[in-house]
Amino acid sequence: MEMDDHKRRRNMVLYVLIACVIYLVLNTLLFPNMAQRQQQISEVSFTQLLDDLKANDVKDVEYNNSSLEIRYTKDGDENTIYTTTAVSGAQDILVDRIDESDANLVASVDQDNSLWTYMLLMYGLPLIIFFALGVWLNRRMKKAAGDDGPSMNFGGGFGGMGGGLGKSGARIVASKDVGVTFKDVAGQEEAKESLKEVVDFLENPKRYEDIGARLPRGALLVGPPGTGKTLLAKAVAGEAGVPFFSISGSEFVEMFVGRGAAKVRDLFKQANEKAPCIVFIDEIDAVGKRRDGSLSSNDEREQTLNQLLTEMDGFDNHKGIVVLAATNRPDSLDPALLRPGRFDRRIPVELPDLAGRKAILELHAKDVKVEPPIDLTAIARATPGASGADLSNIINEGALRAVRMGRRRATQEDFEESVEVVIAGQKRKSTVLSDHEKQVVSYHEIGHAIVAANMKDGAPVTKITIVPRTSGALGYTMQVEEDEKFLTTKQEVLDKLAVYCGGRAAEELIFGEMTTGAANDIEQATKLARNMITRFGMSEEFGMMALGTVQNAYLNQDASLTCAPGTAERVDEAVKKVIEDAHARAIQVLKENKFKLHELARYLYKKETITGEEFMTLLKRENPLMPPKPQA
Ligand code: ADP
Ligand code: MG
Ligand code: ZN
Repeated sequence: MEMDDHKRRRNMVLYVLIACVIYLVLNTLLFPNMAQRQQQISEVSFTQLLDDLKANDVKDVEYNNSSLEIRYTKDGDENTIYTTTAVSGAQDILVDRIDESDANLVASVDQDNSLWTYMLLMYGLPLIIFFALGVWLNRRMKKAAGDDGPSMNFGGGFGGMGGGLGKSGARIVASKDVGVTFKDVAGQEEAKESLKEVVDFLENPKRYEDIGARLPRGALLVGPPGTGKTLLAKAVAGEAGVPFFSISGSEFVEMFVGRGAAKVRDLFKQANEKAPCIVFIDEIDAVGKRRDGSLSSNDEREQTLNQLLTEMDGFDNHKGIVVLAATNRPDSLDPALLRPGRFDRRIPVELPDLAGRKAILELHAKDVKVEPPIDLTAIARATPGASGADLSNIINEGALRAVRMGRRRATQEDFEESVEVVIAGQKRKSTVLSDHEKQVVSYHEIGHAIVAANMKDGAPVTKITIVPRTSGALGYTMQVEEDEKFLTTKQEVLDKLAVYCGGRAAEELIFGEMTTGAANDIEQATKLARNMITRFGMSEEFGMMALGTVQNAYLNQDASLTCAPGTAERVDEAVKKVIEDAHARAIQVLKENKFKLHELARYLYKKETITGEEFMTLLKRENPLMPPKPQA
């Protein structure tokens, strides 16, 4: 998770403010008469002092025993400090004169000593406080940034505060502290395989050097958020037993111009001293974005990127420095970064498949006390598209739920429930639907389910609920594919569209009116229909013509159209047609099953949550009052 600049800046301002306040308070507390020290100084003769004393003009006298220096101020004129040196042997006279006058002898301390104490208190103490505060804030900022594991900031307080002293603020973690090895990464076998070579290189750089092989200087871990890129990078360091320098791309781009470049320089300097080691640049897209020459381009970022390119060319690869970087938007990276000799190796870190999800769940469930039987395969099956981070979260939420329920072990139900928590948002008990609303939602959800059940080869319905979620959904129908699917046929896409339309169709059929409840279905259906036409080549009119580009498939962005305005208009027409057909099909199916729709919707209304099996049994039950349907 990256910390946004805004927060960092706020922290900085806070930090400086606190430091200033402490400085001022200390100052007034420790040196109430400091103001006087900065006053005008006038040198006078010793006799002058004696005269002034005689005239009873003197207010305070400060006498230094070792240097014999005397400072004094006069009544009514506190802005001038008179200095003079005592004539040797005249001290006694001086003391007598002072006694006789109303002047008070402020101090008779050794000026040298006091100067040191003064300097120490005046500058040293605030410095120490400054430093401690910096370290403390740094820790807090890192914690907020979700950094795990013990780490140490070599930049210290100042470095961390913004690298004011030119330190990189890069975190170095000794290898044993990384505490992560390949064992802790599940379901990324291909990525691990590619990284094993890097580990081997770090362990015996000599072997590679002897034969004259040049290993990649850098490898880019590419994949969606939460798939374990950071984890893999740490694991490489852990496996090889080498130091791990890590810095986030967003940390580079700081407030003062030129600082980012200095950080890069310093990072590589440190790495050079500690080689063999791993330098890990997380979220490299923050700094490595394509230089496009547009007006809004960020000068600072560009300098940082240039410095990074220079360093990557410059470092002595034989020593065993490997630069790993992670990003979820490889297409936005500057091509110069991807040139051979820099990040020339690309390691995809994809969302885990069924087996991978199961492995990740098992890995994280190892540390949780569970009550058998536990079927993690079922959980894996219900979570297509979940990342490693999601899955780890599901296990943890399950354990938390067990604690909330006052149990000592987590059960299968806990994990199943947490799938919904993580994937669909917490159950929201506080949203109270009116009776009528509850009915509408019941018919809506059963509408989806009946259409789904009537589609050939559709994924079976596993759960239907009308308990509202915090995600805003008032209910939902969960369908789970039996096996992982990588290809979808045109018929399946059309069926899916009909299922999306099933909710609204049921509302229209039963209540004769529409509600806003179908908004999400409509969005999904439109997106799917549009993809059908612009990307999947599934329309007769356009055939296999790509009409849009997807900027970043990893972030699941929508395709943007790349066609003439006239064509775009026709695309819209085609999308509308596809959805209308799907809607008509849904209406047709529900009309044929109207009785079942009533029966099941009432059942759901009563029970609020029903399982897929309950749904199927009721759906298939012969109706005793009506003649059985003729078999086709
Ligand atoms: P990324 O850097 O790709 O966004 P992280 O490496 O930060 O993802 O992963 C976040 C957390 O999710 C990890 O600390 C780990 O607990 C869990 N996780 C993600 N992927 C995996 C995996 N393949 N195996 C085990 N745990 C994983
Ligand atoms: Mg990460
Ligand atoms: Zn719906």
